[in-house]
Amino acid sequence: MPELPEVEVVRRGLHPRVAGRTVLAVKVRERRLRWPVPADLSDRLVGRRVLGIDRRGKYLLLDFGEGWLIVHLGMSGNFRFFEGAPVAARHDHVDIITDAGVLRYTDPRRFGAMLWHDRLDGPLQAHPLLASLGVEPFSAAFDGASLYRASRGRRVSAKQFLLAGRDVVGVGNIYASESLFRAGIRPTARAERLSRARCDRLARTIRETLSEAIERGGSSLRDFVGSSGESGYFQLDCRVYGRAGDPCRDCGTAIRSIRQQQRATYFCPVCQPR
Ligand SMILES: [Zn+2]
Repeated sequence: MPELPEVEVVRRGLHPRVAGRTVLAVKVRERRLRWPVPADLSDRLVGRRVLGIDRRGKYLLLDFGEGWLIVHLGMSGNFRFFEGAPVAARHDHVDIITDAGVLRYTDPRRFGAMLWHDRLDGPLQAHPLLASLGVEPFSAAFDGASLYRASRGRRVSAKQFLLAGRDVVGVGNIYASESLFRAGIRPTARAERLSRARCDRLARTIRETLSEAIERGGSSLRDFVGSSGESGYFQLDCRVYGRAGDPCRDCGTAIRSIRQQQRATYFCPVCQPR
């Protein structure tokens, strides 16, 4: 499933290719995504210029001036740009044809979304899909102090606290295990008991982990947005995730795996004592 770093890499890949481009036509081959693609999408977009692409959580936000196209990649979606698009295959559901090339949405499992939010309908951040998202991990509003404040009174584990996405967005399953390892925090530690110093460390390692993943993706950007059939999703060089039984790279102890809320969690019992 594409996580925040993958979505950010898609954004960085697409932005320079589509910003300033005018939409000439829209071809919707399959409307049934998680929610139906609006029937009037073509009327909304044709003749309009893409001013830029932003991101909020895992949503890509294409700014058309008079409104935004909100795109979510769901479980298996991809959004790629082709100067000369190959013939559409089975899962290529939407083509946005611009004066520079084709922006193509592909999604085999169809859990993604493509929705229009008109400027007249109010500010974008008030959109029901975006309104309850936590802060962006790279924004100035996110730091140890905000993490400390948000975690008071939260009786859940540190990992569940991160995964909930209520306080900070983008820390998916892999990134939660990896940032907690780097911060030396046991994933089962109670969120409300984390000291201010540990929250500072955790805020730092969350940013570090996500940045590394984005950089890794950035280096494969060419493949990511190019014409190859590969989706290009990438993974971090994980220190604990997926390494149950393997020696910890810092201390040599076997990495342990447990389940928390049906999701696999990995940690080093020595480096993450509590
Ligand atoms: Zn260790």
